[in-house]
Amino acid sequence: LQESDPVEDHQITVCIRKRPLNKSEFARQEVDVISVPSKDEIIVHQPKVNVNLKKFLENKCFKFDYVFGETCCNELVYKYTAKPLVQTVFDGGMATCFAYGQTGSGKTHTMGGNFQGKTQDCKKGIYAMVAEDVFKFLKSPEYKDLNLTVSASFFEIYGNDVFDLLENKARLRILEDGYHHVNIVGLTEVAVDSMDEVIELIERGSIARASGQTSANRNSSRSHAVFQLLLWTPGTDRIHGTFSLIDLAGNERAVDMNPPNRQAKMEGAAINTSLLALKECIRALERRGGHIPFRGSKITLVLRDSFIGEKSKTCMIGTISPGMASCEHSLNTLRYMDRVKEH
Ligand code: ADP
Ligand code: MG
Repeated sequence: LQESDPVEDHQITVCIRKRPLNKSEFARQEVDVISVPSKDEIIVHQPKVNVNLKKFLENKCFKFDYVFGETCCNELVYKYTAKPLVQTVFDGGMATCFAYGQTGSGKTHTMGGNFQGKTQDCKKGIYAMVAEDVFKFLKSPEYKDLNLTVSASFFEIYGNDVFDLLENKARLRILEDGYHHVNIVGLTEVAVDSMDEVIELIERGSIARASGQTSANRNSSRSHAVFQLLLWTPGTDRIHGTFSLIDLAGNERAVDMNPPNRQAKMEGAAINTSLLALKECIRALERRGGHIPFRGSKITLVLRDSFIGEKSKTCMIGTISPGMASCEHSLNTLRYMDRVKEH
């Protein structure tokens, strides 16, 4: 995909991003098995062995709204995915943007950016770029008279529990009131009106999320992270619009883990359930009306209002590791994304 390609208007945008091979993959002489022949196609060249033990490649081709090759930067990905949805939020709607894929395929790089400080160019992810555009819209002639204010929250869903990434990972409860509103009780909501403040929150939350990585029972790749920007109508407690940005748990199955253990298996099963519930909710959004199975998991429950609104728009970015060793995972990701797209 190139800068000059048109941005299309979809209620649901489904796209794929392939990351480049990294240093350690080069060092292992890992082979790139993914090609991106056009702006909306991706091919997996899967190595196979036939009955005579002859090796061959089986090419599997998939088509999406957009496919981002390994040379695409975060800015370009943003332009075609979350950026068009900023308008939706200002028009009083609900926007969601998900990153879905195997651990190590680039979800956090795409959504949160890289705060390790090594490479300045990819520092900003989609969280920060959405905030930048939200502040631009607030000041625009069209919207400045609304005097909307912005608040941010950042939390993590691990199994059935919610943890506040802006408050030392405090464990929070989800409550539904009599009006079917879903509330996360005590969630930190920080009023923000500058990029410096937003960047500070993203950094703080990202560091909190990554902390405790090494202990087997709290690995960030096994949790969904949700960064939310809320627009408020002044002098009321009414929400004008919401933008939810979600860095999903790694979609690899527990059975692939080495060494497999009971906890990893249960975690994997819970993640699988939530990713399937998510797919069904997005498909229901496209159908409009009918049953929306948002009770299927905590992540879909928390995002309930985003699945029922008339004005809801969503985009999903499937992230792909290019190496041969990731072939099966990449195919799983492409098949899932294909199902989301198939209306
Ligand atoms: P995930 O969140 O899916 O587990 P990460 O975003 O942490 O994966 O990415 C794994 C590693 O690959 C990180 O070091 C990240 O900086 C790097 N990476 C991911 N995507 C890209 C990309 N598009 N370009 C360059 N490096 C990338
Ligand atoms: Mg990650």
